[in-house]
Amino acid sequence: MYHLFADSLAIIGQSALLIGIVWMKLIAEPSPKPRKILVVGAHPDDMEIACGGSLAKLSDAGHTIVGLIVSKGEQGGNSSSRLIEATKSSEFLGVNKVEIMDFPDTRLDQFVSEISRQIEVIVNELNPDMVFTHSIHDLHQDHKAVHDATLRACRNLSTILCYESPSTTKAFKPNVFVNIEQYIDIKIESIQEHKDQNKKRYVQPEQVYGKAIFRGTQAKLEKAEGFEAIRINLPI
Ligand SMILES: [Zn+2]
Repeated sequence: MYHLFADSLAIIGQSALLIGIVWMKLIAEPSPKPRKILVVGAHPDDMEIACGGSLAKLSDAGHTIVGLIVSKGEQGGNSSSRLIEATKSSEFLGVNKVEIMDFPDTRLDQFVSEISRQIEVIVNELNPDMVFTHSIHDLHQDHKAVHDATLRACRNLSTILCYESPSTTKAFKPNVFVNIEQYIDIKIESIQEHKDQNKKRYVQPEQVYGKAIFRGTQAKLEKAEGFEAIRINLPI
């Protein structure tokens, strides 16, 4: 197994060395070709918790980011507050646009085909170079449903990364890491924008720091976010 360590991103895997070099350039430096990135999450705070540091970093590098929230999170809090907070938090991270759908929180598994069709509309409009979504290794039925719907909608796209959440299982094994040492405070601030959720244990700053340090340790970095690559295909 090769270990590739970099300022920005590390990929661990025997076949990923060259891809890793391209990825370092993709995320670390202002891109000569701004990329379009789609982030799909089941609930209003999912993307900040999962990949807020990476999104802020990608935004700083000049890439265009569209966030897609599939439910308003009405079972987990006050949906009106949650949507306002999600919008503010996304803007803070540099997400260019947030689309909010209205599928029923906690019952997304009953609507996978319809969610997939609606994601596909956005995919056809945006034609993203890169997609982030939930991992299949997640106990939350909504997260699994969004994973399935996103993969179906993005079946013709070549770069898909799956992120972790507080409900991912031990089976979640990241093979792509983004160095967020310079972005951990921004990530924490973006999560704290979700005031409706501020009693949850996993949004506490020490929990977010702890996860970033744990993933950083796996990648020989100070602080990182980890992703499972479904596939990565970038011009080399
Ligand atoms: Zn969620």
